[in-house]
Amino acid sequence: MDGATGRYDLLVVGGGPAGMAAATTARELGLHVALVDERPSLGGQIYKQPGEGFVVRDHAALGRDHVAGRVLIDATQRSGAHVLLRTSVLTLRDGDVVLHTEGEPVRTVRAGRVLLAPGAHDRPVVFPGWDLPGVLTAGGAQTLVKTQRVAPGERVLFAGSGPLALAFPAQLHGYGVNVVAALEAGPPPAPRDALRLLGAARGNRQLLLDGLRYRAALLRGRVPLRYRRIVVRAEGGDRLAAVVHAAVDSGWRVLPGTEERIEVDTLCLGYGFFPSVELMRVAGCALRYDEDLGGPVVELDEWMRTSVPGVLAAGDGTGVAGALVAVDEGRLAAIGAALDLGRLPLPAARERARPLRARLDRKRVFREALGRLYRVGPGVYDLATADTVVCRCEEVTCAAVDRAAETTADVNVVKGYTRAGMGLCQGRSCQRQVAARVARRHGLRLAEVPTGTPRSPVRPVPASAVADEQLQDGGFFTRDA
Ligand SMILES: Cc1cc2nc3c(=O)[nH]c(=O)nc-3n(C[C@H](O)[C@H](O)[C@H](O)COP(=O)(O)OP(=O)(O)OC[C@H]3O[C@@H](n4cnc5c(N)ncnc54)[C@H](O)[C@@H]3O)c2cc1C
Repeated sequence: MDGATGRYDLLVVGGGPAGMAAATTARELGLHVALVDERPSLGGQIYKQPGEGFVVRDHAALGRDHVAGRVLIDATQRSGAHVLLRTSVLTLRDGDVVLHTEGEPVRTVRAGRVLLAPGAHDRPVVFPGWDLPGVLTAGGAQTLVKTQRVAPGERVLFAGSGPLALAFPAQLHGYGVNVVAALEAGPPPAPRDALRLLGAARGNRQLLLDGLRYRAALLRGRVPLRYRRIVVRAEGGDRLAAVVHAAVDSGWRVLPGTEERIEVDTLCLGYGFFPSVELMRVAGCALRYDEDLGGPVVELDEWMRTSVPGVLAAGDGTGVAGALVAVDEGRLAAIGAALDLGRLPLPAARERARPLRARLDRKRVFREALGRLYRVGPGVYDLATADTVVCRCEEVTCAAVDRAAETTADVNVVKGYTRAGMGLCQGRSCQRQVAARVARRHGLRLAEVPTGTPRSPVRPVPASAVADEQLQDGGFFTRDA
């Protein structure tokens, strides 16, 4: 904290690879930095740490990702950045950031620059039975094994798409989980796809090798990997008992007569991620729509500045692109912040940024090649039936959303009619599904349906944390009616 002004130079939101890299780089450049994360430990999604009570005696035994994460975490802790854990950012405006640390009242912190690095979250896919106990996202299953060493179930089916749909089942299998099969909605890589990926291999060798390693692990573990198949239904009473899956065409539309049923107690879903853009939206940052990057993504300039003065963004929250991209973007944003604050002259900033930009360009080429291979098909929005619950927080069915969409193409109005998106998750799970139903009803492309009006706080907060203790009426709760 700057003693003269009582504020930080840079406040970083998110302790994942992007936020940690930004905080350490900004400290190297002499900025006063605070790093905020709602989790109990640094690391973000990929580098989730074992939970409280676990003692790690041999970090190497936990694998390459774990070691890479430790290097970033240790550097952040040594950097002199002020790390605030179990602290959620609720909203921000004009350099004021509103924070809530567990068990404390809400407070406001000022910063010269704010860097948003909130990462991404699992893309929910809605089909009959998706809300049964035993159906969980890949990220949820990964959190169980990585932080608690708990297997999500006895017989696990994995269904998803994209590079992580190869990595996740291989990782789960590596942790000793009984993965009975993995379903990929996309096609098997054709020779021309392999050539395209090889063409983009410069600077991305490790990513290619990782892909081969995960495939080999599934083959060794005799985990069948079946392409062009999608989950159509989860069955069970109190909890999951079986999953029905079917073949799909290139748009992920189910091909009639291809259904198969498999008895499992756990279904992990990994159909990709959505960038967490809630804070960018409440801040008023300009967004654009890019399905390959996960949907609405924030507009950035060459120094990772958003359209809102003083607010920068980096990492998966600006478009899902992986941990290595997140690290370089975080560093670039820190350089951008130092430049803006007059702590680094432009030529020096350009010099420092040059190798980062070169690496980011190479990663972009690779990501685009992968994006072509694993593009999400529109059929993913056609799996639900009328009585499928689309908004779990408020228990709103697809039929209710469709009825509301008869009269309006405005998702805010649909929200007002049905309460879909008004619950604890504030629409993180259902908003895109609702938008897809509105788009279909009105013959629009998904990208043409404006997202609902953002609301603060972006995270649930106890009323006691925002209550003004000065305003007390001792008789209010005791007075007889
Ligand atoms: C569920 C999931 C699992 C993944 N697993 C893998 C994997 O196994 N292997 C792999 O290669 N890649 C994985 N990825 C992708 C990879 O993790 C990301 O590319 C990388 O972590 C992005 O880094 P980041 O810093 O942008 O975001 P993240 O790592 O997501 O970090 C963002 C951080 O911001 C915090 N945050 C968000 N909003 C707030 C708020 N309002 N207030 C306070 N804190 C906030 C979050 O708690 C989080 O710690 C996964 C992604 C997800 C979403």
